[in-house]
Amino acid sequence: MYSPETDVQVGKQNARMLEKRLPLCNDPKVDAYLTKLGMSLVAKLPTRGIQYPWEFHCVNSKEINAFALPGGFVFVNRGAIEAADNEAQLAAVMAHELSHVVLRHGTAQASKAQLMQGAAGIFGGIFGGSTSGALLSQGVALGAGGLLLRYSRSDETQADVLGTQTLYDAGYDPRAMAQFFEKLEAETKGKNPPQFLSDHPNPGNRVERVDEEIDKLGGVPANAKRDSAEFEAAKREVMSLPIVKTPPASAANAAPPPPSGNFVDYQGNGYTLKAPENWKKYEDNGSVTFAPDGGIAQKGGLTYGMIASVNQVQADTSDRALENATQALIQELAKANPGLQVTREPAWVQLNGQPGLSTYLSNDSPAGGQETDWLVTVMQPQGLVSFLCVAPKATYPEYEKTFTAVLDSVRLSK
Ligand SMILES: [Zn+2]
Repeated sequence: MYSPETDVQVGKQNARMLEKRLPLCNDPKVDAYLTKLGMSLVAKLPTRGIQYPWEFHCVNSKEINAFALPGGFVFVNRGAIEAADNEAQLAAVMAHELSHVVLRHGTAQASKAQLMQGAAGIFGGIFGGSTSGALLSQGVALGAGGLLLRYSRSDETQADVLGTQTLYDAGYDPRAMAQFFEKLEAETKGKNPPQFLSDHPNPGNRVERVDEEIDKLGGVPANAKRDSAEFEAAKREVMSLPIVKTPPASAANAAPPPPSGNFVDYQGNGYTLKAPENWKKYEDNGSVTFAPDGGIAQKGGLTYGMIASVNQVQADTSDRALENATQALIQELAKANPGLQVTREPAWVQLNGQPGLSTYLSNDSPAGGQETDWLVTVMQPQGLVSFLCVAPKATYPEYEKTFTAVLDSVRLSK
């Protein structure tokens, strides 16, 4: 589906957005260190002749996380550097991320989601509080092209194996691969696990699989590198950086201001609508999220507001095209949202004089508790146009009038 050139293009586009919106460490010493370490690993990776424009950025966030966008744009949180006991562990996290890049897992997922191209990423991120969802809280939606950076268990095993080989070839103690994951799991037992672990789920036998790989490679080399003075210096450097304050939890949990009764026009792809003037819009390729201040949970995920998107669908000339595409969209949503349930089966409605389907769902709200989701879909020449209205279950009735007003304002261009 996607060429490596597309990986680079999509990754670069998102990286440029993130650079503007994430709190970067802006510390040349740390960036230079990450780049040097990263490139020493890249040198040992099989890139199959593809020239990736590798970039390494330090993010000033205490959360233990690191992620790599397709095409080789790598972001490492200071929290991950601080949590690593030694250079081998940091190298392990990076080797794992870099393996996802060269194995092209980020866009392979998008290929699987071909039917609803982009939808899984868009909704998965917004619903699910995955890395892409967390980025949305910074005003960035990484939905386009299904850039869902939450990997499957088989992706994880592959990244562990390739990452272990890379560590070995780069002269590091390859056991650090499993050690760092184990350490995160042990430290967060019973607590809210770091985003990193939900994006990179344990395939079940991580330690055994890594050990098996090390045996195949001939065991841990006697002179395997574990630490370096450069790592210790970089760790001290990030620990001395000012801490970027995130909004206090109470502010994040407070209900957003009620929707304004004044509406402003929005021009979408093949449709127009009017949204409350105090809802901000976050545009992404083919989708737009409208949310009030406080309508996006701190860890990402829409809690109050609406997502309008155009989803590409497979050619379907049957008279059930809308039903089929809506069903497929709901299935995609359910994949990324285990708590998702249809509470009212699709029913026919009119949207700007055209036949649409209205479906009610419930889901776990990223703010805690349950949310109500009202999904209205209509088939258009450019694809399945969907409007997803989201509010916590308890306050949903207060929002229904606004959602109805927005949907009544929709004008389809056909
Ligand atoms: Zn992974």
